[in-house]
Amino acid sequence: MDSIFTKIINKEIPAEIRYEDDLCIAINDINPKSEIHILVIPKKPIKNINVVEKEDKNILGHLFIVCKNLAKELNIEKSGYQILTNVEEGGGQTVMHLHLHLLSGNTLKL
Ligand code: AMP
Repeated sequence: MDSIFTKIINKEIPAEIRYEDDLCIAINDINPKSEIHILVIPKKPIKNINVVEKEDKNILGHLFIVCKNLAKELNIEKSGYQILTNVEEGGGQTVMHLHLHLLSGNTLKL
């Protein structure tokens, strides 16, 4: 079954798109946990880090580059930000389609 993110990628449901290219889409989180909360989502429906393959390394690298570019655009590259990905329910994952959370303005202390 398609995840909600696949529906957003296919424009079947709306989202606030911050960036899009052939490999990924970046959208505002619908329930932001910090001032800036963007989800960077690969178009390929990879469930999470547990199932990434060697062939996905270009996609994974690309997601981080997109985070970096968004951070520069949003002027948070110096003030700082966090990049986080949850894995499985026990790791806080609620949407079973890989995504990076780009967070700034309310630092999560680890
Ligand atoms: P995770 O808990 O790591 O799987 O993150 C899923 C994130 O997706 C949560 O922060 C949700 O608020 C967000 N989310 C769920 N549905 C939507 C949606 N339709 N548009 C934007 N963000 C969403």
